[in-house]
Parts: sequence; structure tokens; C-alpha cells
Amino acid sequence: MYRIFIEPGIDEEKILKALKVLPGYFKFEFKDWSDLDYSVYEEGDWKGFIMPSKVGDIAIFDGIKHEARFGGGTISNRCGIAVFGGESIFELGLRIWHELLHAKGMPADSMLGNLEFIGWMDAAQKLSFTVSRILRKNKLAHSSKWQVLYYHFLTQKLLEGD
Ligand SMILES: [Zn+2]
Repeated sequence: MYRIFIEPGIDEEKILKALKVLPGYFKFEFKDWSDLDYSVYEEGDWKGFIMPSKVGDIAIFDGIKHEARFGGGTISNRCGIAVFGGESIFELGLRIWHELLHAKGMPADSMLGNLEFIGWMDAAQKLSFTVSRILRKNKLAHSSKWQVLYYHFLTQKLLEGD
């Protein structure tokens, strides 16, 4: 069970819809932003980024207001998610799913090189993925279609591990 803290001023409806993109494996409860313990990065690329202090907490904050550069960050089962306003519900859902996979220790960034993932695909997926990996590597890395399949694969592994 993750505790979600949404910064006041953020479109809550949009967050609730985005969370529905994630599989039911991930469970949430909602808490008041004023009860969140967090720190703010003060320098470097992460300047402005909000990171919760307690394990199991997810801070969803206004990335424009805090001038955050990155959309998401995770440290040992605590996540910060920046919302910039222009992203779709689906994109936002994938961003949160991605960070929660990191939070669970899964290799969320390693889709292209994950041989177990390729082995898990059916024959048509394997062919399409392998061809794309050769011809359109950069596009493949950012393809939400493949990200969904990869995140599903990783979540399946979490379920099997439980
Ligand atoms: Zn990542």
C-alpha cells in the first residue's frame, strides 16, 4: 500500500485517472499534502525536485512551480512525481508505474537489453521488437506500446515473487 500525497493546485481528477492505468497490484491510499515529510533538492539537475522522506510515500507535485527538470525519481520505495500539465493521463500513468517498478527494485530502465523480457514475448512480438531494436532503437526506447508490455512483464514478475 502506497500513500499518495497530491500537492494542492494539481488536477486531482487527472491523477486518479492516471493511477487507473496501473495494474491492481499497486494499491494506494490518499493523504493530505500537509502531512507529507519531504526534502527538496537544492542543486544540480535535481534542483527543485521533491522527495518524500518516508518509505511507501509518493509525492505528486507541480513540476512547473518547482522548476523540476525530471518527471520522476525514486529512492528505496519513496517516489517523487512531477506533473507539468501537458502530459496525457496515459503518459502520467506510465510515469508513475515506471517509478513504482523502480521502487520495487525492478529494472524499469532496461527494456532494450532485457533478454528475459524478449524470451517472454510471443513469436510475433519477438520479431517486431528485434527488428525495431535494430532499425528504430531510439523510437523503440520511447514507445509507450512497448513500455506498457515491459511494465506488465515486470509487474508479472513481482506478482510471481510475492
Ligand atoms: Zn527510470
